[in-house]
Amino acid sequence: MRSIQEDILKSITYNFNGLNSFLLKANLWPGMLYGFSYQKNKKKSGGLNTEERLVKITNHAIKSVPYYTRLYSSPVSDIEDFGQKIGLIDRQIVASHQDDFVSQSVNLKKYTSVTTGGTSGKPLRFQINKNRHAVELAFMHNLWKRAGWDNHTRGVLRNHHLPTNRDFIINPVTKEVIFDNFRLSHDYVKVINKVLKRYNIRYFHAYPSAAYEFCKLSRDAGMDLSFISAFLCGSESVLDFQKALITDEMGIRIFSWYGHSEKLVLGGYCEYSDHYHIESEYGYFELVDEHGIRITEPGKVGEIVGTTYYNYGMPLIRYRTGDYAEYVGDMCDACKRKMLLIKNIQGRWENNRIYKIDGTYISTTALNLHSDLYSYIDGLQYVQKRPGELRVLIIKNQTFNTNYEQLFRDHFQKSFGSDNQVMIDYVDKLIINPNGKFELLISNNKKIN
Ligand SMILES: [Zn+2]
Repeated sequence: MRSIQEDILKSITYNFNGLNSFLLKANLWPGMLYGFSYQKNKKKSGGLNTEERLVKITNHAIKSVPYYTRLYSSPVSDIEDFGQKIGLIDRQIVASHQDDFVSQSVNLKKYTSVTTGGTSGKPLRFQINKNRHAVELAFMHNLWKRAGWDNHTRGVLRNHHLPTNRDFIINPVTKEVIFDNFRLSHDYVKVINKVLKRYNIRYFHAYPSAAYEFCKLSRDAGMDLSFISAFLCGSESVLDFQKALITDEMGIRIFSWYGHSEKLVLGGYCEYSDHYHIESEYGYFELVDEHGIRITEPGKVGEIVGTTYYNYGMPLIRYRTGDYAEYVGDMCDACKRKMLLIKNIQGRWENNRIYKIDGTYISTTALNLHSDLYSYIDGLQYVQKRPGELRVLIIKNQTFNTNYEQLFRDHFQKSFGSDNQVMIDYVDKLIINPNGKFELLISNNKKIN
């Protein structure tokens, strides 16, 4: 069952824009509307004993969650004991023992069941605290403050299909003006531009792919976007060609963060740096190598492993997210905060695999272009239907000339291997999934894993 707050958040957007526009202007302190969990988490700023919270939830799991009770007979004493004793779990393990991960001693009326899709394998169903959205908002708002956002009204360009008679809808509670990213065209970006100016919107919450499409269409139509302070971007990695257009060419910052549907760890950029700063109060973060050993060496790449501090109903402990990142350090020289820093986050590794004819594979990173080649194009995507064959979709920009075609062909052919076939298609638009998200690689071979 959804909470009343959730119902308000979901249904209010379908009011007339005129009424919501009035409510939007009247809502000067939105934090007051989000409730106690929001206020409590909003105030947090370091100093909490994360070890105590980690030990507490782990011992709760050992005592009352069947999966852990079977594996561990005694409680953990401290963080070191935790690291030595508790093994890693992954999506596959949780998916095949879903009921065994639910606590026997928690009132499940305070929890709600959610299912995440995932790109391969079985969808994962799990229990999550009903007040979790308030906790999330509090953490997100603290992050966005680093981008200069301070309760400003936000434009939203994510996975919203709007009714055909509405160009935008307004949520006066969350202070969002929501657009339809499936409708992006030269005419529609003009409409968006007008609405952004009317509501004095400087922060745009968007998928990087939608921000990119919006910027490209706006640039081509000669529209000025200098009033936008930042794109707030989660859910997808920011790709080099997106940053080249949005930040280098148009001068707009992309402020990105990393989170995931299991809600175990969270990290975002700071005001100055494009490294992800891990929020130690959100959950317990580890980066581990292929043997499960914790990485503390700058430049090393490992898998992101998370442990919840919040979800006593279905605690996931040392859960491998399937996402990979590079370790940077434990202190940011720019903002002077002592936090774990990571960069180059790569989504579920297997989804980046491009298979060769001999059954081996390379990752999409292996096909990365040199930066001078990126400057000739406005977009890039890979499509693989069968091993040994790769279609590369490229959007040319004005600086592209036919001499470069051979450079691109040579680059991809060399990286993919001469026994394999590369086809380059020059296109006007890249492919967006039905859920509105962009994937760098669209592959039929993901099920192989
Ligand atoms: Zn920093």
